[in-house]
Amino acid sequence: MNTPSNPLLDFSGLPRFDEINTAHVTPAIETLLTENRSTIDSIRNDSNAPTWQTFVQPMVDASERLSRAWGQVSHLNAVMNTPELREVYNKNLPLITQFYAELSQDQRLFDKFKQLRASAEFDMLSPARKKIIENELRDFRLGGAELPPEKKQRFLKIQETLSELSSKFNDNLLDATNAFSLVIDNQEEISGIPEDVLHTAKQLAEKDSKKGWKFTLHMPSYLPIQQYADNRALREKMYHAFYTRASEFSKPSSESSDTSWDNMPIIKKILELREEEARLLGYKNFAEVSLAPKMATSPEQVLGFLRELAGKAKPYAEKDLQELQQFATETLGLPKLEAWDIPYVSEKLRQARYAFSDQEVKQYFPEDKVLPGMFKLVEALYRISIVPADSIEIGQTVQYWHPDVKLFDIFDASGDLIGRFYIDLYARDTKRGGAWMDGAIARRRIDCERGGHVVQIPVAYLTCNFSGPVSINGQQRPALFTHNEVIVLFHEFGHGLHHLLTQVDDLSVSGINGVEWDAVELPSQFMENFCWEWDVLKEMTRHVETGEPLPRTLFDKMLAAKNFQSGMQMVRQIEFALFDMHLHYDFDPHGDKSVLQLLDEVRREVAVITPPAYNRFPNSFAHIFGGGYAAGYYSYKWAEVLSADAYGLFEENASNNSIGVMDAKTGSRFRDEILAMGGSRPALESFVAFRGREPQMDALLRHNGMTV
Ligand SMILES: [Zn+2]
Repeated sequence: MNTPSNPLLDFSGLPRFDEINTAHVTPAIETLLTENRSTIDSIRNDSNAPTWQTFVQPMVDASERLSRAWGQVSHLNAVMNTPELREVYNKNLPLITQFYAELSQDQRLFDKFKQLRASAEFDMLSPARKKIIENELRDFRLGGAELPPEKKQRFLKIQETLSELSSKFNDNLLDATNAFSLVIDNQEEISGIPEDVLHTAKQLAEKDSKKGWKFTLHMPSYLPIQQYADNRALREKMYHAFYTRASEFSKPSSESSDTSWDNMPIIKKILELREEEARLLGYKNFAEVSLAPKMATSPEQVLGFLRELAGKAKPYAEKDLQELQQFATETLGLPKLEAWDIPYVSEKLRQARYAFSDQEVKQYFPEDKVLPGMFKLVEALYRISIVPADSIEIGQTVQYWHPDVKLFDIFDASGDLIGRFYIDLYARDTKRGGAWMDGAIARRRIDCERGGHVVQIPVAYLTCNFSGPVSINGQQRPALFTHNEVIVLFHEFGHGLHHLLTQVDDLSVSGINGVEWDAVELPSQFMENFCWEWDVLKEMTRHVETGEPLPRTLFDKMLAAKNFQSGMQMVRQIEFALFDMHLHYDFDPHGDKSVLQLLDEVRREVAVITPPAYNRFPNSFAHIFGGGYAAGYYSYKWAEVLSADAYGLFEENASNNSIGVMDAKTGSRFRDEILAMGGSRPALESFVAFRGREPQMDALLRHNGMTV
């Protein structure tokens, strides 16, 4: 077999990162788009009845090559960004988006899927393949494929307008955020604000040739002021500016007075159009459209869930607030807490109660203890072994995109290679911020022409932005992680294991592919629980200087601080989720009640803090008006219930054995029923198969310190 000269067109193994350069991108994407279009053409014009082998499989194969090649480009764009790569990425991205948009509107493909669904072959297909076909039909329907021509035209127009409105919503918010700044040149007015924040603020002022410190509404400036500034008037001023962004109170400068940043008319229009879209599709409201591909079955179910959780959490939130008020009165001389006092007083109370710092904890978590500790845990749980790939014969030189990157192999109990992952831990200026897991290659079974089959081994990328090793006095010190970074690492590794430990043979539902959106965080949040388990954690620590493990007393303090104000945090999330769900369920955008009145009603029901009347939170609620979370904000809490309850079985079983939560029996069940199954069956079925019953919220409440 010839190796293609363009490394992006080589699908025989791992990506050839050393050889890929920007000149390869456009030709590869052109070739693959042409290949995809001609595949689609020929199956679309095939007059024979569609079968899995002649219709679905060729489409999956062509699309997999495109997504693998493009996946490498996006990955490099995110972790080794250069101006040249960014340019070629942005040039090709619309072509790919356009191709998939065409597919989703292709009436003849939709008809063929319907034909296949109705054929005798369908009943003989595996559950995974049935699920893939059902998913396709659902997505075509939600994309308006079943509408008569005139309605379809209106539907597409609505989609187009909605996407413009969302983008306008985000633009207004960004413009309004950028338009505000506050320069202070009096040292007394900035007391309490951390040094690094002041340093940046000073540089910003200097840029404008001003003396003093310049503060903005961007998070790295806004949050520390709310949290640390002793100057109450400053906090209030910033709070006011922040919560009136993109509202009738925030106006563009006079020269552009014909435009407005007010997002409220946009919100109204978005809600009207979403409602119209829902009715066109035959649903009663947009919430039903949003939930159609999700695990939650109805808006009523979600509302019931949120209210039940609110009922449990609110007494704790009230207690949190009471403690805060008492502390503010007694210690800080603040008799009445305002919205701009909450983060400040909370931080003071937290420091008074739990006297330890992240820096202190960080000294106990060196990379060379944390990574092996995490591997040891999952090796014990899932009966696998994890080995650095360099040390074994793999028949191919592994290529990396950066010298810091490592590749690991996962073997099952019988010694078969079942998955591989790259790990790229340290921040650098060519890397996008945050932490994430991405699939490079997904597991699938490939039938060979001469009979038999091979299994394509899944490969994942784990990317973080932690601080790297440093050299002190000529001595190399390993990378040290904060406890929060350890949690992030476990979280992303949880996503990784979902991708890597799958046993599904069909790509579209293997690993995290096809998993319901409100259930996809189950495996990741599940892993976080182990970071609060003494038996697990103590094996992962070693003080970078003394070599001592983490002291139990420090761990106990960390544990106590974990649930600090968890009641207040939970009701706040529930407030947003209820507001979002009602907006898209029973709120009438044409009616008399305003969006703000609805929010007030929700607040009266679940919130413990009433913000000032000028607060325009909805105008900056970008999750639901500028992003993809409409009628989906509840997912955060929903997935937490699933992950906490799944972990609850490990806790229950731990009380009956001597090995604690590192229990291979329960672990195998989690692996087989949840991780291995991917999107091949509904998430609820997988959950019940593991847990033996439907999800319950007790474990989540217990983990948040809310036990009655
Ligand atoms: Zn996640």
